[in-house]
Amino acid sequence: MTLEHTASPAEAGEAPIHHLKPAVDPATLTWRTPRRDAFWQQIPAWRDVDHATFGDFLWQEKHAITSSKRLVDSVRELVSDDFIADVEAGFAQAPMAVRISPYLMSLIDWSAPHTDPIRRQFLPLASDLEPDHPMLTLDSLHEQADAPVPGLTHRYQDKALFLALDTCPVYCRFCTRSYAVGLDTEQVEKVQIKASKSRWDRAFQYLRERPEVEDVVISGGDAYRIKADQLLEIGETLLAIPHIRRFRVATKGLAILPMRIKAGDPWTEAVTTLSDKARKLGKDMAIHTHFGHANEITGFSEDMMRLFQERGVLVRNQAVLQRGVNDTDQAMLEMTRKLGFINVHPYYVYVCDMVRGVENLRTTVATALSLEKRLRGSTAGFNTPTFVVDAMGGGGKRDAHSYEHYDRETGISVYTAPSVKEGQLFFYYDPLSALSPDIQAAWQDAGKREEMLQAAIAAARANLR
Ligand SMILES: *Cc1c(COP(=O)(O)O)cnc(C)c1O
Ligand code: SF4
Repeated sequence: MTLEHTASPAEAGEAPIHHLKPAVDPATLTWRTPRRDAFWQQIPAWRDVDHATFGDFLWQEKHAITSSKRLVDSVRELVSDDFIADVEAGFAQAPMAVRISPYLMSLIDWSAPHTDPIRRQFLPLASDLEPDHPMLTLDSLHEQADAPVPGLTHRYQDKALFLALDTCPVYCRFCTRSYAVGLDTEQVEKVQIKASKSRWDRAFQYLRERPEVEDVVISGGDAYRIKADQLLEIGETLLAIPHIRRFRVATKGLAILPMRIKAGDPWTEAVTTLSDKARKLGKDMAIHTHFGHANEITGFSEDMMRLFQERGVLVRNQAVLQRGVNDTDQAMLEMTRKLGFINVHPYYVYVCDMVRGVENLRTTVATALSLEKRLRGSTAGFNTPTFVVDAMGGGGKRDAHSYEHYDRETGISVYTAPSVKEGQLFFYYDPLSALSPDIQAAWQDAGKREEMLQAAIAAARANLR
C-alpha cells in the first residue's frame, strides 16, 4: 500500500470510528495561541515602538516604571482622573517599592484597570486596601529566625534557601520577603541582605559543613538581578560541593521580562552553562519562575521557552493564589494549561502569605481546595500544581488539604509539619472579608480572638490523638 491513497473506511470495509464524545471546538483551546499583536501600542508613549525595540531587554529595563508619577504620565490619556488619584494614594500607602516593566504595563487592559488581573498584582489602589488581619506579623515565615547565616535559611533537613541579593526586576505587592526586598518605603524599613561576596562565602562555607543539604534554592530578591558571571560563580561553587545534588534558580524575570532570554544574552548563557555542567555531573538544575495569570504568557514567553527547551533547561512555575487575579476555576485552568503548553511545569500554587497591605489579594484555604478539585484531571498530573500553605512561624510548605483542623467560620486552619518542626502547630487565617460580620467583629476583640484560637488548637489536638 502506498501513502498516496488512503482508503476510506467504507472502501476498506472497516467500520467508521465511533467518537464517544463530540470533538472539542478548536476555538475553545485559547491557551494554544498566546498573543503576538503589538499590544504595547495601546500606551500612548509606545505607539510607535516596533516589535524589535519592545522585544529588547535593555529597552525594557530603561523604561521600567518606578514611580507613581511615571506610571500616571504614561496612562493619563487612557484612564479617569479618579483612577489616577486612587493610584497615587495607593502608592503612598504601599509597603513595597514600585517597579514594573513596560511589558507588564502593556499587558494591563487600561480600559478596565480596576479589575485587570495584572494591575491588581502590581499596582496598589488606595480603594482596594483592606485592613490587615490582626494575626499578621512581618516576616511571617520566620525566614530570619531560621537563618544560621544572614540570607541563608535552613529550615528543611536536605534543602536550603539562599537569598543572594535583595533587589528584583519587579516588586510584587504580595511579596513574602517584603521584610527585606526593595528599597525602604514610607511604611517599612527593610532588613539588609545585599549582594556581598563575604556574605555569600559564609553561606557557602555553612553549606559545605552540612552534609545533609542536597538541594539549594538561589533566590533573593530575584536571580534575574544576579550578574551573569556571579550567577556562574554561585552555581559552580554549589556544583563543586559533593553532597549538593540539585539547585534551582528562582526568578520572576521569566514572567515579566521574557525578552531577555535569547542566545548571546550573558544571563541566558550562564544558565545554560550551569544546566549543562549540572547534567554532566549527574546533578539537577532548574529555573523556578512565577507566572500569576494567563495574560502574562505571550508570544515572547513562548519564544523564550522554545530556546530553553532546545537547550534542555527545565522551568517550573510557582504561582500565588490571589483574589480577583487567579481565584476562579476559569482563570486557574487557563493559566495552568497555557503554562503546560509552552512547557513550563506548574509546580506550586501558594495560598497567599500573610504580609502587610495585601489583605484584598488573599483568599481562603477553602478556595484553594475547590480550585484543586477542579484542576486535577484537566491535564497531565505533572502539569497540575500542588496547592500549598507556607505555614507562618516556619513550618514550611504544607499541602493545603493536610490541615489537622479547618474552621471555615472563623477562617482558622491548623497544620502540623512533622518533618520540619515536630510537635508544633501552625496556623493560617482566611481574610476577614471572607467571614461573617459577627466573626469579623470577634477578631477585633482580644478575648474572643483568644477563644477562637484555643478552640482551634483543641480541635487540632483532638484530631491528632
Ligand atoms: C520553599 C522553600 C524551599 C524549597 O521547598 P520545595 O518544597 O522543595 O520547593 C527550601 N527552603 C525554604 C526556606 C523554602 O521556603
Ligand atoms: S520578584 Fe519575588 S522576591 Fe521580588 S518582590 Fe516579587 S515575589 Fe518578592
